[in-house]
Amino acid sequence: MKRIEDIDLKNKRVIIRVDYNVPLDDKLNIIDDNRIRESLKTINYCLDNNCSIILLSHLGKVKEEKDKQTKSLKVVAERLSKLLNKDVIFVKEARGKLVDEAVSNIKNKDIILLENTRFLDLEGKLESGCDEELSKYWANLADIFINDAFGTCHRAHASNVGIAKYSKEKCLGFLVLKELDNLKLVTDNPKKPFTVILGGAKVSDKIGVIENLITKADSILIGGAMAYTFLKAQGNEIGDSLVDMDSLEFAKNMLKKTNKIILPIDHVVANDLNSNNAIKNKIEKGEIGLDIGPKTIELFKNYIENSKTVFWNGPMGYYENKNYEKGTKAICEIISRLNIISIVGGGDSASCVINMGYKDRFTHVSTGGGASLELLEGKELPGIEVMN
Ligand code: ADP
Ligand code: MG
Repeated sequence: MKRIEDIDLKNKRVIIRVDYNVPLDDKLNIIDDNRIRESLKTINYCLDNNCSIILLSHLGKVKEEKDKQTKSLKVVAERLSKLLNKDVIFVKEARGKLVDEAVSNIKNKDIILLENTRFLDLEGKLESGCDEELSKYWANLADIFINDAFGTCHRAHASNVGIAKYSKEKCLGFLVLKELDNLKLVTDNPKKPFTVILGGAKVSDKIGVIENLITKADSILIGGAMAYTFLKAQGNEIGDSLVDMDSLEFAKNMLKKTNKIILPIDHVVANDLNSNNAIKNKIEKGEIGLDIGPKTIELFKNYIENSKTVFWNGPMGYYENKNYEKGTKAICEIISRLNIISIVGGGDSASCVINMGYKDRFTHVSTGGGASLELLEGKELPGIEVMN
């Protein structure tokens, strides 16, 4: 597998698969530009090498024609241009005459960003179905393909896997390399004690991770809505808290199999999202658990403080509402004071760490939710494998 530093990029035309799948609000403002910032290292390195640069990315899911209005990469081109302090040429399509024209006029140090690759899904799943013709088309636009989109490496699409197959020369960019190097700290013989903190909403998405980590980790602390599935599996009343019924059996089996799973001992509860909340040791009928309570924070703190490695996925509560962000913030605060290996993976958890201001205190905040989880499940990522 070639690394970007191992390739002669001088004066070459490169096509880089970046991950500009950034969250946008209703007015199409970028809520969090971390993924754009994280792509700058590879882009700047290519500029230093006098390359001409074509950028490819998807943004969100594109299912019908009207999605084109809300999923355009135009806003990303503007932000990228600001961050680089340099023009970025935005092309309103990902394949076709406009692309051919822009590419034939490209000069060294020019940057072109093509429109959302998934717009081509409307022409018959060309991008996500890894269409051969489309893959060849993109591969032929440049001399070298650079994969720097870690967040999509668990998918085999035309813009990462297809293009790699047909590119004469290819390598991994700095962002992907940084992700792989850091995630190794938890997948390959993590320093012990190794504590995993899990939260968020859906247990079923994370079954693979739990199964794989249960042997490697010393403790698994479970908060967030995920905890209620486990508490219910133990026979506790969880009121109207979110529960993943399909995963109840799995939770029961896990609790039987291991005593490494540590569950909350108190909760911030409310009758609904608009009513007052209270801290309770036990949830009653009609109540919803929306965050971990102070005793649970103390309990989790003891485990975290005694760890050498921590991996965290999933917020501890319904953090979108400020009343229920304390648990998640407390975990950030605890980790930020320690000198341990701390890795965060997961879309929501990563944006919590960043938006709450703790990014610099973590060893690594992954830009890839699904991709980092699949690595932790012990799976090979197709977007990486194809680069061999
Ligand atoms: P990640 O993206 O980090 O992998 P998930 O997507 O699995 O995390 O979960 C994040 C979601 O879980 C958030 O929308 C958050 O509000 C929700 N959540 C966490 N705890 C609770 C809770 N107690 N009740 C309801 N929703 C919760
Ligand atoms: Mg999420």
